[in-house]
Amino acid sequence: MEIRDDFRHKGLRNKLVQHLRGKGITDEAVLKAIGTVPRHLFMESSFIRFSYADKAFPIGAGQTISQPYTVAFQTQLLEVERFQKVLEVGTGSGYQTAVLLELGAIVYTIERQRELFLKTQSFLPLLGYKAYFFFGDGYEGLPAYAPFDRILVTAAADKIPQNLVLQLKPGGRMVVPVGNDKLQTMTLIEKITDEDIRITEHGTFSFVPMLPGRVS
Ligand code: SAH
Repeated sequence: MEIRDDFRHKGLRNKLVQHLRGKGITDEAVLKAIGTVPRHLFMESSFIRFSYADKAFPIGAGQTISQPYTVAFQTQLLEVERFQKVLEVGTGSGYQTAVLLELGAIVYTIERQRELFLKTQSFLPLLGYKAYFFFGDGYEGLPAYAPFDRILVTAAADKIPQNLVLQLKPGGRMVVPVGNDKLQTMTLIEKITDEDIRITEHGTFSFVPMLPGRVS
């Protein structure tokens, strides 16, 4: 694969950023990250020309790279700060991982599809993006590396994954789409203290399902 990012790609990204502003994304750091990450390099070759369209696309193994608006919305809601420890569930193409890294997060990312785990683990470092990659079941999280400041789930959970809530630091935030296999409610879980947990809902989205176990 050729790693090439030129002024045309940059121009398309600037347009995408304007589009996201128009749809209500206001966090400048998030917009800057989306304006920086070369999304076309995360796409399968047959879809490259649509890289900066605000749509989801197939990435293999029956999975998708999330729509840029969805990535921006989830990331904005997460309120990531530099040097925070972030757990991402659903590595997929690694695009969302790269956006989190651009924000200065220390990213632990977990994927249940071996093929995608291997591909993204070797690809992201080629772009200079360094994350910790895990092949496993995101429903279990990463107890050995917990607690996390932020947890971002990028697949549709049927209910709030309680193991993940346990792996959140007091003061931490977790963003997870919760619902059925068609539509989910973007859910924010704020752990004020271990006993005081606030749950708020932030609109409707559509993700591929979060499934238990690993696939080799
Ligand atoms: N963040 C990704 C989105 C990929 S789609 C991107 O930017 O490209 C969601 C991903 O979650 C898929 O790759 C799917 O295999 C993965 N997934 C689903 N259930 C999971 C689970 N229990 N643990 C880890 N990953 C899971």
